[in-house]
Amino acid sequence: MSKLSFENGKMIVPSCVTVPYITGDGVGAEITPVCQAVVDAAVKKAYAGERSIEWKEVMAGERSFNMNGEWLPEATLETFREYLIGIKGPLTTPVGGGIRSLNVALRQTLDLYVCQRPVRWFKGVESPVKEPQKVNMVVFRENTEDIYAGIEWKCGTPEAEKFLHFLQDEMNVQKIRFPETSSFGVKPVSVEGTERLVRSAIEYALENELPVLTLVHKGNIMKFTEGGFKLWGYALAENEFGNRVFTMMQYNELAKERGKIVADEALALARQEGRLVVNDVIADAFLQNTLLKPEAYSVIATLNLNGDYISDQLAAMVGGIGIAPGANINYRTGHAIFEATHGTAPDIAGENQANPSSLLLSAVMMLEYLGWNEAAKQITTAMENCFEAGKATIDLARFMAGGKSLSTTEFRDELIREMGGPIK
Ligand code: NAD
Repeated sequence: MSKLSFENGKMIVPSCVTVPYITGDGVGAEITPVCQAVVDAAVKKAYAGERSIEWKEVMAGERSFNMNGEWLPEATLETFREYLIGIKGPLTTPVGGGIRSLNVALRQTLDLYVCQRPVRWFKGVESPVKEPQKVNMVVFRENTEDIYAGIEWKCGTPEAEKFLHFLQDEMNVQKIRFPETSSFGVKPVSVEGTERLVRSAIEYALENELPVLTLVHKGNIMKFTEGGFKLWGYALAENEFGNRVFTMMQYNELAKERGKIVADEALALARQEGRLVVNDVIADAFLQNTLLKPEAYSVIATLNLNGDYISDQLAAMVGGIGIAPGANINYRTGHAIFEATHGTAPDIAGENQANPSSLLLSAVMMLEYLGWNEAAKQITTAMENCFEAGKATIDLARFMAGGKSLSTTEFRDELIREMGGPIK
């Protein structure tokens, strides 16, 4: 077993890396082995045996519950803690059990504060927008705070009543429209939570030489939470990254003092010098802009709820659920879990029809996270070639002009053939 280690903010990667994996429920049993076969072929092709992955199965979800009565065994969490990274197929959400969501439990236990979702279009894949080739963004969604923190009370309970009295009697809040029938939720957004998310997004943008980082928020309405996110994000960019960034705050100051022309020139110069432009936009305008001028955006940093909506809209613009990858990452400890973003697809489970692309592209993110970019490129190139030739699983192929529907395993074979490797 070869473990990764994380020292002084840097990942130390051995030539053979052990990757713990959760097969997943439903279609997980089909897409996980396919993903592993393609990744193995890509690593072999890229490094001719000098690097390899050793897969280590860990249990979670329905499969685990049926085998040992536990949805998320402690041993699984311990393995992820120890090996730093992991990859998972989709998991059935337990109904009526002690755990609300396995995904949330995993994120919380390892404090995986970034939900990273890259969104790009593959030529050949049908899209509802006219120019999907202009969609190329990476979303950094804050994963641990916001109205999603799970602090809420149902109307009519003693807790909701107590909270209502606290608001009315102690905080002098008189504007709750229907106090007796209101449920309540709390939206914590902190300086530290914002800073670690925005820092990771800026570092990612700089490392990958991307031109713009956009803070997406609703600070016009929620001034201290979403507005705080914007202000703290800008402050961090200026204080920690200095001349490597040029913020819209700096632009506005210049425009106020010395006029718009000078500010425009400074912006053009910043771009020429390769400085990262940090700007912000209100979330509703952002959603509209993604349809009207998606090329204006490259890296997005946003809070939890906004990030949820944004990720799904952007995914829909490039082909939807079967193809959108994701990762949950803690850039301070190095812990990262890469995952298929769709569910267990019970309606097609067991039929060898599921699209493995979401999990595969998550594996691509994992290879890039390890710095194994050559292997990652092998997979994306093979996918590009297949989709361009209309070869895909039925969910995508049925919308492609001249598309040829392949089963999950046939799609695997095509990808491996594209990489010039033997088919197992
Ligand atoms: P789903 O994502 O499983 O399915 C929605 C639709 O998309 C279905 O028609 C399905 O056939 C299709 N689909 C999904 N993945 C596909 C793929 N790889 N290839 C082709 N088609 C695909 O959502 P659901 O039906 O609402 O949820 C089913 C179960 O999955 C529930 O228990 C839910 O809680 C769980 N879930 C888990 C995750 C996760 O683990 N990340 C995410 C969402 C839902």
